[in-house]
Amino acid sequence: MRSTEYEQREDGLYIKRSRAQLRDDSMYMDIAYRIADESHDHRRRVGAVLVLDGTIISYGWNGTPPGDDNECTHYRLYNSTHGLRLVGESKPTVIHAEMNALAKVFRSSLSAKGATMYCTDQACQSCALHLGQAQIKELVYARPYRVLDGVQHLHRQGVFVRDISGKVFQP
Ligand SMILES: [Zn+2]
Repeated sequence: MRSTEYEQREDGLYIKRSRAQLRDDSMYMDIAYRIADESHDHRRRVGAVLVLDGTIISYGWNGTPPGDDNECTHYRLYNSTHGLRLVGESKPTVIHAEMNALAKVFRSSLSAKGATMYCTDQACQSCALHLGQAQIKELVYARPYRVLDGVQHLHRQGVFVRDISGKVFQP
């Protein structure tokens, strides 16, 4: 159960966490990083864990759909001021970790409603839209992402968003 007590620090608002909450946060995020190791995306490995009432109900990592080539990056030649350069981009067929975790729930008799998602990375807008529709109650991430559209959307949807240090997302 999440604490409802807050502490204002110089760089923002933090939740006050009990020892049990600190242990849960550290344990579930460690698991998310372990799951991220399964990703074949050598540009960024992302792992997500969905927890409901103290139980992991799903997890996922970023990757191409089953049966597809595991390669997550495609390369194109780019004409820069320094001449031709080869740039790598994520293939459009790569499914994000959060979506793979949600998809497993949708295929089951379970529901993500009221669940907490622990993710190694802050959600993008597309994943945030689906996490909002699934009515998760909390998103905890480790690595920030410069684009805030996703977390801003979740915040507007009433999803509690914070990072692994306990810092509350405030738009
Ligand atoms: Zn995403």
